[in-house]
Amino acid sequence: MITLKEALSLSKDELNKFKKELHTKIEANKDLNAYIDVNNVGEGVPIAIKDNIQVKEWSVTSGSKILQGYIAPYNATVINKLLNAGLSPFGRTNMDEFAMGSTTESSCYGKTLNPVNPECVPGGSSGGSAAAVGAGLAIAALGSDTGGSIRQPAAYCGIVGMKPTYGRVSRYGLGAYASSLDQIGPMTQNVEDAAILYDIISGSDEKDSTNAMMDDKVSDKLDPSKKLTIAVLPKYIENASDDIKEAYAKAIDALKAQGHTIAEHEMMDAKYDISAYYITATAEATTNLGRYDGIRYGNRVEGANLEETYYNTRSEGFGDEVKRRILLGNFVLSSGYYEAYYVKAQKTRHLIKDEYAKIFKDVDLILSPVAPSVAPKFGELANPMEMYLSDIYTISVNLAGLPALSLPIMKNSDGMPIGLQLIANAYDEQTLFDGSLSLEKEIAYN
Ligand code: GLN
Repeated sequence: MITLKEALSLSKDELNKFKKELHTKIEANKDLNAYIDVNNVGEGVPIAIKDNIQVKEWSVTSGSKILQGYIAPYNATVINKLLNAGLSPFGRTNMDEFAMGSTTESSCYGKTLNPVNPECVPGGSSGGSAAAVGAGLAIAALGSDTGGSIRQPAAYCGIVGMKPTYGRVSRYGLGAYASSLDQIGPMTQNVEDAAILYDIISGSDEKDSTNAMMDDKVSDKLDPSKKLTIAVLPKYIENASDDIKEAYAKAIDALKAQGHTIAEHEMMDAKYDISAYYITATAEATTNLGRYDGIRYGNRVEGANLEETYYNTRSEGFGDEVKRRILLGNFVLSSGYYEAYYVKAQKTRHLIKDEYAKIFKDVDLILSPVAPSVAPKFGELANPMEMYLSDIYTISVNLAGLPALSLPIMKNSDGMPIGLQLIANAYDEQTLFDGSLSLEKEIAYN
């Protein structure tokens, strides 16, 4: 597949021809279920779009039955930015319902397969975007990352996925899951493409009150020769599988070979991240999902009266995982439990943020696993708790609002991709991309 950088120099005729071929290729790989449908806006370089980003006149459903029939009346800011840069939203990719999940199994459109091994999950919740890029069915894609949903599927499918600093990319037109954690980001074939796409979608936007209103760009200043200090976390990675540890050691060697300085640091037990995240995320999700009542958006299942209409619509429209989280979110916000759970989670969130701030006093980047194992087989994460635990290495980055990039390091003995992430200080995307580029060069995964 041509890279984004290459595609940007194609003529209109070449692009039209490319898109026709891409259509055929997507059709031939329908079994993967990476795309929900293949619409196109404009004549530019095609970019696949996760099903929770508003594209005017497209059906946009966040992978949920409750939004079936809803047609987006406006473009998300990132979509306008793509169009202004001459790119085309092309195809809607599959995802876990309302971005809640780590496997893309909770979509109302059925599961997406991992392009490297169809018996394995592609990761989630942006599994459709990752599978599309991984299978050569997209040059690049947009995903969203609330607790790892860009980085983890990228790692499982052997591609690059980047989560920007909270506030860098406008959330206007992104279906809200947990508003204080959500960020849209690029999913690409390589680090340079991620930087290019990040530059296009990031920047100030008055329509998002949490936007950082910063417009500095990175891709024209990429410098993989910069010598950096990079933190490694020997104790923190103890819970990872042996092949992940092997990849970690390989990445450290590669970073040393590139002339970077390695510094050992520690982080508190990641089990606290899980609690803080699942309390915060479900509390915010409960509030955000309150709007899906069958009256204003999408699908309605009528009842004898208003209350019954709400009940029927939500009972039939939401899947099990979403219902579980609405219940959990309401519980942690309810009077009597609010202090014990929600407030404590916010305190823990601050501790996590402080912990990162302390490490970033001494280093430029942190090297971390993305997931504790390679992509599991379908059905392997039998219960929700096991699935939540698979997020241990990604969610603290969202809780602290930091930028991070997942890139493929090696394949294990079964041929499954292993991705690791570099994490940078808030708003230091430049260093994140510079360091990632130097690691990518040394590793030579592709
Ligand atoms: N797996 C995490 C969750 O289910 C993260 C999802 C995401 O980043 N959207 O909440």
